Amino acid sequence: MTDTVLTSSALLAGLPARQGFGDATLIRLAAGSIDLGGGNPATDLLPLDVYRDAFREVTESDGFAPLLKYSPASGLPSLRASIAAREGVAADRVLITNGGAHGLALAVLSLLDPGDVVVVDDPVYPLFLRVLDLIGVDVTPVRVGADGIDTDELEHRLRDGLRPKALFTVPTFQNPSGVTLSAEREAALVALAEQYGFVIIADDPYRAIAFPWTEVPERSAFRDSDRVFAVNTFSKTLGPGLRLGWIVLPAAMSERVTWLRNRLDGQTSGVLQAVVDRMLADERFDASIIAAGAGYARKAEALTTALREEFADGVEIAEPQGGFFTWVRLAGDIDFAQLFERSQDLGVTYQRGEWFATTGDAFRGFARLSYSEVGEHDLTEGVARLARAWRELTGR
Ligand code: PMP
Repeated sequence: MTDTVLTSSALLAGLPARQGFGDATLIRLAAGSIDLGGGNPATDLLPLDVYRDAFREVTESDGFAPLLKYSPASGLPSLRASIAAREGVAADRVLITNGGAHGLALAVLSLLDPGDVVVVDDPVYPLFLRVLDLIGVDVTPVRVGADGIDTDELEHRLRDGLRPKALFTVPTFQNPSGVTLSAEREAALVALAEQYGFVIIADDPYRAIAFPWTEVPERSAFRDSDRVFAVNTFSKTLGPGLRLGWIVLPAAMSERVTWLRNRLDGQTSGVLQAVVDRMLADERFDASIIAAGAGYARKAEALTTALREEFADGVEIAEPQGGFFTWVRLAGDIDFAQLFERSQDLGVTYQRGEWFATTGDAFRGFARLSYSEVGEHDLTEGVARLARAWRELTGR
């Protein structure tokens, strides 16, 4: 028997989906190991009391029994209205989903046909590629720079004849690079979508996780466009175990996506929707998001401080401004697969840069290190273990 378990990091890397259990290079998480690869929020930064009160209020109210019936495919009207008010859109543009991945699948299945061209962030959130596998499309990566996906490069490619049906980007605290699309680039992207006739799938789960000093663009160009599917989720603010999210759709697409939803799984749990609607009306929910932003900022600081101390000039760090992780580049002409193996032997795991490439071994030497779920002491210890493995291989 081995103490190896499959972690959420391995799932995110898409290894089991592609290679099947057994033959994949699974992420190993032995007892005492530190997981810098995951995407969970810290449970102590979730509003557990708000949850408990909302569940009690919903289950004790007269409106509870009807929630156990089937409910509309687009979601409970009250929750759609609450989210629409927060997003500044009409309620008929909001569709409730079972989380972000479900929203992405609905977007892909309602927009794309086999053989279509889809532009994606480079580096890319790899689970989106797994969703695209459902259809079989041509994936074209476009570089993510300091202000988000590079609209200048995209424009050149479009002028040269590239004709995508859709473009996928994570606009805020991008997974994995951490960068945020500027308002200027957001507007340029919408203009290109209109000129060349493609749809933007903007997947924005980290928008709510801003550090106290970070200003997040309002996304008014996305909101006002009829070419944007804005996919979001409560997974980072209320936990991925909840399975609840939403899409802000172009009004003209609402009927089509609801039709698809009806045929796929019918609806999201009415009980959970009512609970979340209660939580959104509770001022402690917004307060918990602000507190969580400060909590994640402290964790990020612990991680980046440890990186600077352990690696000195052997690491380039994309300083996080929000979200759950930092994207780093480690120096050295070494075998980074071996570094990953050795790190796991020493009791730390993370996400390898190559997993965020569309093809080949791009982002060799990069790593995505998560601080979201790990305590500050373990962040420091995890970096120390990684640095030990790196020193062994580089001889530094
Ligand atoms: N998109 C991105 C960019 C993510 O990082 C995640 C979560 N890791 C998701 C979508 C999936 O969200 P959910 O858990 O709500 O399905």
